[in-house]
Amino acid sequence: MIRRAVFPGSFDPITRGHENIILRSLPLFDEIIIAIGINMEKKSFFELSDRIKWIEQVFAAYPQVRVDSFTGLTVDYCKKMDATFILRGLRTAADFEFERTIGQINKKLNSGLETIFLLTTPDFTSINSSIVRDVYKHGGDVSIFIPEGIKLP
Ligand code: ADP
Repeated sequence: MIRRAVFPGSFDPITRGHENIILRSLPLFDEIIIAIGINMEKKSFFELSDRIKWIEQVFAAYPQVRVDSFTGLTVDYCKKMDATFILRGLRTAADFEFERTIGQINKKLNSGLETIFLLTTPDFTSINSSIVRDVYKHGGDVSIFIPEGIKLP
């Protein structure tokens, strides 16, 4: 059976933290789907098409990584894609508390799904997409926070 994982998130935009988690998880799975969750009630800052394009660019050399978007529950999306793992990154204790609830609820909704957590590499602990957006909005240089080669508009 193919070990297929879904890495769900908003990736608004993708950061070096996300990139690091995905690269480190390559040996664990046969296929990783980076799945951009679309929340109808929360408008994203960057266009979905740009977010997809940047992720495709970052993982162009890795055929086992693909990008998609979804609405609705992550567990339903995993079922649709025949994925049995959810991949998440853990930065802080706050992440842990948040992820614990979601992970346990997802397990109740689909007992066949396992959430796999990777601890962030210390250098990336402080990076998150919302900080990147803030720095960007105020004209700061975000290049050290986002994967190499990505050009924000
Ligand atoms: P953010 O929290 O940056 O807005 P997402 O909602 O897109 O990011 O999160 C998707 C997943 O990526 C989550 O599991 C989150 O914990 C993880 N993640 C985000 N930033 C980092 C980072 N710097 N290091 C490790 N994991 C991260």
